[in-house]
Amino acid sequence: MHGHELSPSTIAVAAGRPDRVPGGPLNAPITLASALVPGGGSEYGRQGNPTWAPFETVLGALEGGRALAFSSGVAASAALFDLVPTGAVVVAPRGAYYGTVVQLVERDRRGQIQLRLVDIDDTAQVIAACEGAALLWIESPTNPALEIADIETIAHAATQAGAAVAVDNTFATPLRQKPLELGADFSVHSASKLLSGHSDVILGAIVTADDRAHAALEKRRTVLGAIPGAMETWLAVRGMRTLHVRLDRAEANATELHRRLSASRHVAYSRYPGFGTIISFEVTGGAAAAQKMTEQSDVITYATSLGGVESTWERRRRHPGEPESVPEGLIRLSVGIEDVEDLWIDIQNVLAAVV
Ligand SMILES: *Cc1c(COP(=O)(O)O)cnc(C)c1O
Repeated sequence: MHGHELSPSTIAVAAGRPDRVPGGPLNAPITLASALVPGGGSEYGRQGNPTWAPFETVLGALEGGRALAFSSGVAASAALFDLVPTGAVVVAPRGAYYGTVVQLVERDRRGQIQLRLVDIDDTAQVIAACEGAALLWIESPTNPALEIADIETIAHAATQAGAAVAVDNTFATPLRQKPLELGADFSVHSASKLLSGHSDVILGAIVTADDRAHAALEKRRTVLGAIPGAMETWLAVRGMRTLHVRLDRAEANATELHRRLSASRHVAYSRYPGFGTIISFEVTGGAAAAQKMTEQSDVITYATSLGGVESTWERRRRHPGEPESVPEGLIRLSVGIEDVEDLWIDIQNVLAAVV
């Protein structure tokens, strides 16, 4: 189009639209059908639904590969783990999203893989662990500790060692980090978070530029039935149309809140990687104070999940499955797009009442 490469903001708005025909809609319709007329790409709803295509087109264009939608983020990662040969070595972050670690630990216990857990921000340790591995799984920033991996360096080393490389790109989104350009083979998403952005969808995705891997993953999706709903992919596209605007605003809010939290005498430390919408912090009053303050806020909603337009927070260790490496008092704050002064007054009020 006009001979120049479109910026990500324009791609987010423009990609995956129907052909422009007089009287035609600007948005792809939602197709509710379990059976489709034979002769096309899919004749049964588990093989494919036309509503998935706009979502896969937008995300693929933003990441620089071809996307596949799955029923959830963990369904996407499970499809990828299914491709690891029996007994092969998988290297993964100790601090990865707990649903990812649970899957890998279970597979290791059943003898399906050999799991090597590493500190993903320790580049030398990760490179050493990749010796003889089939897959390096990266998550950066990690959820909820916000560790940052040197993706380019460890992806290169893993590739040299013969391992495939996947990056959970949920926290960064393709607008802040493009794993395929950094040397990864797969970018994996929980689209339930920032991509959809309105806390109303459970959806996952994998993006790859490798056609054989794409075909293998698509087959896993069909065989296992880990397929997205038509409504979910439609809502995710609607959310992605504003991803760049939401992200810019939430990041500006997060930068300011992190600065103020870091300066507060009630806060032991605040962590923010400088991009994305998540802040992790601890208050001086410890776990009990953290639990109480998250339950008492007015503007910020006490809830799990993240990446929505509304700010949410929780003490992560309230979940029994959360690993012990996460401090008891750690609060994960997902910063939304509200007015930053309203958010800060809310935080100050609960801090003053509890700590
Ligand atoms: C939420 C999340 C997942 C899992 O995604 P679901 O859509 O809940 O299955 C995976 N990775 C990260 C980093 C997440 O935050």
